[in-house]
Amino acid sequence: MGYSYCRFDCGIPDCEMGSIDLYDGVWVWPQGLVHYVEFHSVCLPYEFIQTMRSHSWRVPANLKLPLPDGQPPLRKVGYWRSEYEPHLPDPRDFAQPGCYGTELPRVLDYLKAGGNYTCDLLLPPLEARLAAKQRSWPQRLMAKLRKT
Ligand SMILES: [Zn+2]
Repeated sequence: MGYSYCRFDCGIPDCEMGSIDLYDGVWVWPQGLVHYVEFHSVCLPYEFIQTMRSHSWRVPANLKLPLPDGQPPLRKVGYWRSEYEPHLPDPRDFAQPGCYGTELPRVLDYLKAGGNYTCDLLLPPLEARLAAKQRSWPQRLMAKLRKT
C-alpha cells in the first residue's frame, strides 16, 4: 500500500511517515501517528492513553495477530486513513497543543514501540471487523472540545 504522508503537509518525507500499522494488543495505529503527536499536537483518544497507563507505558511483549476468533476486536485510531475512508475524520481536527502535559515523552515512546505488522494482516476479515467495531471517539472528543 506504500508510504503514508503527513496530512498537515509540513514537508516531512513520506518515507518517514511509515507504511505499516502498529499495535499493543488493544489498539491499532499507523507508524506515522507519532509524527502527528510530536509535531502537530494531535490529541489521541482518552481511552488509548488509559490503555498506555494500564500497561505501565510499555507495549506488551509477544503480541500475536491475527486474533483468534472470539477475542475482543482491536480498537483502531483510524483518522489517518481518511483518503481511503472518507467517513473518517481528518487528524487536523484534533490538534490540541499541550494536551499530554508531562506524559508526552512516555506517549511518544509507546507509539514508537508498538508491535509491527504489515498491511497484509489488516486485510479482511480483520479489517472488516475493525471497521464494524470502530468506536466513535472522534465525534465525542470534538463535542467535548467544543464545550470547553
Ligand atoms: Zn507533519
